[in-house]
Amino acid sequence: MKNQIKGLNTICTHFGQLEDKEFKGAVSPLYMGTAYAFEDIDVKRYPRYFNTPNQVALAKKIAALEHAEAALIFGSGMAAISTSLLAFLRAGDHVVIQKIIYGGTYNLVVEEFEKFGISYSFTDGFSADDFEAKIQKNTKAIYIETPSNPLLNITDLEAIASISKKHGLVSMIDNTFASPVNQNPIDFGIDVVIHSATKYMGGHSDICAGAVASTEAYIKRILGLAKNFGGSLSDYTVWLLERSIKTMGIRVRAQNANAQHMAEYLYAHKDISAVYYPGLPSHPNHDVAEKQMKGFGGMLSFELNADLDASYFQKSLKLIKPAMSLAGVESTVLSPTLTSHSLLSAEERKRQGIADGLIRFSVGIEETEDLIADIEQALEKVRKEKEVAI
Ligand SMILES: *Cc1c(COP(=O)(O)O)cnc(C)c1O
Repeated sequence: MKNQIKGLNTICTHFGQLEDKEFKGAVSPLYMGTAYAFEDIDVKRYPRYFNTPNQVALAKKIAALEHAEAALIFGSGMAAISTSLLAFLRAGDHVVIQKIIYGGTYNLVVEEFEKFGISYSFTDGFSADDFEAKIQKNTKAIYIETPSNPLLNITDLEAIASISKKHGLVSMIDNTFASPVNQNPIDFGIDVVIHSATKYMGGHSDICAGAVASTEAYIKRILGLAKNFGGSLSDYTVWLLERSIKTMGIRVRAQNANAQHMAEYLYAHKDISAVYYPGLPSHPNHDVAEKQMKGFGGMLSFELNADLDASYFQKSLKLIKPAMSLAGVESTVLSPTLTSHSLLSAEERKRQGIADGLIRFSVGIEETEDLIADIEQALEKVRKEKEVAI
């Protein structure tokens, strides 16, 4: 029966569930144990070995969601990213990395890789040619993120998988922004799919976790390093994450619809000079996004007209809160220049196309009429402020 389950929401609710044989409860029992009797000498159950009953069950759900053979759950997205990258790279190796990636991943690469003797190149753009141009004799992996943060750039999954295969490289993706609801990179030939489960999988801004999905062989290889690095997730949080994922399909689909609505509203607005959202036909890679995504996601970015004060605008919002993280059921905004990308030089931000007035918008599940009313009242305050200044 379980093997025949294919529908997204059915996988979310049922797959990889632990059965409560004793009391027939509707939810997975939670096993908090750190000590288990040996079943046989080969199975040593221990949270840091990633093989407690709850960890194993949730990993099955995540593997099913990503159309993968196997998965592992980590204590954070960065634990999943660092462990996965270092499982495939050793001293003397080189990795090609997408021009714009999550800030924490960027820091991992530029601050830590030299210590391990691993070299890297960032691409100049997002096309397959941009990636192929950086491949060297000792290149072992390609690392991408699509849609990217904060400008929602789209990288072509099929094209990256194809050049990775041609050059015998491992292709890896940070699939956090799309979530497994909107994008399954393995279907396009990508090898390793990584998530910050802190975002859409958790979805309620109360869980920090990570995950990686791939083939049995690659997961075994990542697990080897994962045991030594020790980035496992506590069983209580595993259990909470399982509960959160039950509603991921309906949450993310609602966020897709809201984000599309908000993107169209902002695009048509006289006070807004730019909107970045893969679901808009004006997005430069809208056709690629359409080919590889089932929904365009809940993240977008926009810029106010240059004469309007973007930081006063954010302070004037009442319902939509400025917040560092994203993907919760509540809508949040963030200024990349002041927060996530503040450590980059002004020049580097400019190179990446991040304007000072850029606002990243994580669209929640509220009614769009309330979100629009909030933006309208904030814009009115900002326009009044401008008149006073004149
Ligand atoms: C948040 C995030 C991460 C890091 O995840 P943590 O759970 O905070 O460690 C990685 N990639 C992307 C795209 C993210 O948004």
